[in-house]
Amino acid sequence: MYTDYHIHTFRCKHATGDIVDYVEAAIKKNVSVLGFSDHTPLPDGKWPHIRMDLSELESYVLAIEEAQKKYQSEHELTILKGMECEYADEYRSFYQEELLGKWGLDYLIAAGHFFPCDGSWIGAHSYIKGKKELFAYTDHLIAAMASGLFTFVAHPDLFGHSYLPWDENTIACSHAILQAASALSIPLEINGNGFRQPMINVEDKQRCVYPLEPFWELATGYDILVIINSDAHAPEDILANTSDAYALAEKYRLKVGALSFTA
Ligand SMILES: [Zn+2]
Ligand SMILES: [Zn+2]
Repeated sequence: MYTDYHIHTFRCKHATGDIVDYVEAAIKKNVSVLGFSDHTPLPDGKWPHIRMDLSELESYVLAIEEAQKKYQSEHELTILKGMECEYADEYRSFYQEELLGKWGLDYLIAAGHFFPCDGSWIGAHSYIKGKKELFAYTDHLIAAMASGLFTFVAHPDLFGHSYLPWDENTIACSHAILQAASALSIPLEINGNGFRQPMINVEDKQRCVYPLEPFWELATGYDILVIINSDAHAPEDILANTSDAYALAEKYRLKVGALSFTA
């Protein structure tokens, strides 16, 4: 059974294709559960260049609901309404009351693309250059998990994009993230998109920006559930590199799960 819970659309300004393009691509690949999770709009308009505008929220939800009506009865396919979110306490009511409440989204994903450090927000892709930023990222991700708003965590090992060495700091932060995921029973994602990015050279070895193999090796020691997704930013990316992610999970004997939603 193929599932993919992490799918974007053109609305985030760095993906191509609309809902139906992804649905039709998913049908061709025999996907059984397709979850849309575009980058959420934010009520204060923060980081507008990589997310949909608040004015596009309605069309996003309606396009998914139309696709549910049109495709679900004819195909063995469940289509879900989700969103990939940045956590901040001031967004809680928007996520809870607007996204989950008014618009009836099935799930929200926590992603730490940005996190507060020394009083300002910084980006995880480029600015985790030292221990201080790494620990701030970790604290933020754990606060997001503890908020109770999110169904799973996208690419928890995203810190590897800018914090290059694997050292005592990454080990401590990885244990903290894994421990929190286990204690809070929140699944962690092995993200296929990381396999599609250019590899980087660290101490004369090539590695993915993420997933970080040593992170998932440490995960072996924890009672956690792993979710595997493509993080598609183009229709042809559906399920892309999920076989690499499944191989990683299998190597470290991680428990891969599906999400269950009650109507
Ligand atoms: Zn994206
Ligand atoms: Zn994403």
